[in-house]
Amino acid sequence: MPRVRYNPGVRRLLRNMLNAATMLSLVLCVATVVLWVRSGSIQDWLIWRDWPPDQLSFDTQMIRVSRGGVQVRFFHQSHGQNRWNEDTHFEYRRQKAAQYPVYQEHPNDNFSPGLKRFTTLGFELIARAKGMTGNNPGYSFTLTMFTVPLYAVVLLFVLLPAFSLLRLGRRRRRIARRIAQGCCSACGYDVRATPDRCPECGAVLG
Ligand SMILES: [Zn+2]
Repeated sequence: MPRVRYNPGVRRLLRNMLNAATMLSLVLCVATVVLWVRSGSIQDWLIWRDWPPDQLSFDTQMIRVSRGGVQVRFFHQSHGQNRWNEDTHFEYRRQKAAQYPVYQEHPNDNFSPGLKRFTTLGFELIARAKGMTGNNPGYSFTLTMFTVPLYAVVLLFVLLPAFSLLRLGRRRRRIARRIAQGCCSACGYDVRATPDRCPECGAVLG
């Protein structure tokens, strides 16, 4: 594959951006591991409830971390007759970790035309399921939610740092090889006749 050559300024910018992204990735990776460990005993919730003025329906957006999984849920409920009396608000809840955060069907929930649910390897997706609760004929809801296992998040964030380590190792081996062969460690030019300074790139050699 032909190697793309950028001019030095662009290359430096790209390298700086890659380094910044790698550092950010590393920090997020460590933070996710900490969250993972914490989620074994504690369940964290971030909840946003949006109540329109008519109070006949409301939306709940929610992120929950528990037992090594993170769940995002979009929930719309409407009652049709009774009014709730609440304001739009943000809420943080901390509880004892209960279960891995997948959907648990309420015995009274009836989904129509059926819950579209996909699960594999700790991932779960419930795609825009419409439902109603048997006890309240006027009550209906729409649910979209997904759960992502934290191991997958860690794997994602570990990619860039791992790639960076591999590159560093390759660079070290290349420099060692050049020195062993009597070449300039910076550019690879043969410096057996001029061991102090590389005549090609000017690098001062130890
Ligand atoms: Zn050189």
